Amino acid sequence: SRQFTRPLNDLANQFNTLLSAIAGAERVFDIMDEEEEFKNEKDLKELSHIKGEVEFCNVSFSYEEDGNTVRNVNLHVKAGQTAAFVGPTGAGKTTMVNLLSRFYERDTGSILIDGQDISLVKKESLRKNMGFVLQDSFLFRGTVRENIRYGRLEASDEEVEKAAKLANAHSFIMKLPQQYDTVLSQDGSGISQGQKQLLSIARAFLANPGILILDEATSSIDTVTELKIQDALQELMKGRTSFVIAHRLNTIQNADKIFVLEEGCIIEEGTHESLLIHEGFYYQLHGKAAVGAHA
Ligand code: ADP
Repeated sequence: SRQFTRPLNDLANQFNTLLSAIAGAERVFDIMDEEEEFKNEKDLKELSHIKGEVEFCNVSFSYEEDGNTVRNVNLHVKAGQTAAFVGPTGAGKTTMVNLLSRFYERDTGSILIDGQDISLVKKESLRKNMGFVLQDSFLFRGTVRENIRYGRLEASDEEVEKAAKLANAHSFIMKLPQQYDTVLSQDGSGISQGQKQLLSIARAFLANPGILILDEATSSIDTVTELKIQDALQELMKGRTSFVIAHRLNTIQNADKIFVLEEGCIIEEGTHESLLIHEGFYYQLHGKAAVGAHA
């Protein structure tokens, strides 16, 4: 399979590339990839005002020639629903969202949003409809305000502040030395991991996408900030189709659909309750989690 651009794991880097350009700083990556990525897209369609229904039809994909990373996946998520991917490390959870956002191209099958094949849609237009809240939030050297505004560049100061309030970020921002004008470094030193997450949630509120990709933080975040994050995410997910890459089972119990992955196959799907009654792999994972540290 051909890699068109950097995958989700490297998304932070990719955003930083775009951001460096915006911030007028020196570009760290060469521009060739991007030109390559968007060429031949002139005749493709725009994806606008999506409802957010997502379907995978017989999707298979491998990173290597002979591999088999995702195998014949079928899934259907209705507009506005929350879907979660669970399964062991390496099962293919990240790959699923890499395919949905076309950081990689499926080998066979099709992926549809509102019935439209995403391979026939301009990538830029596809990604405008998607918001990402990832483990490592991407920041660039610039003010807090600029960092949030990256979600929608034409947003007013009032809109930036409104988004920060929705994201439970406003109160910590007001305690920073220069509030919204405080300059952040690219690695966000000076603010905590959890506060970085709140900023990326604010950015997502501002962008107002129809589809959300959430990669739960695995690192420990203090309890108060964690509650703020959970609360803000719940609000953010309302009315949007959300895909959660779950690392802890206790945060996805209200998901409309949980997809259990093993070696690139969906081996079970259902709600938390139905999967427990089924007493299959999810039930086993849950049993392990219940005695583990994250229970
Ligand atoms: P998960 O998110 O469930 O931990 P991934 O989707 O990251 O799983 O990985 C699925 C499989 O694909 C794993 O075997 C992993 O090693 C492999 N893989 C992931 N990313 C790449 C890549 N960029 N190149 C080659 N193989 C990869």
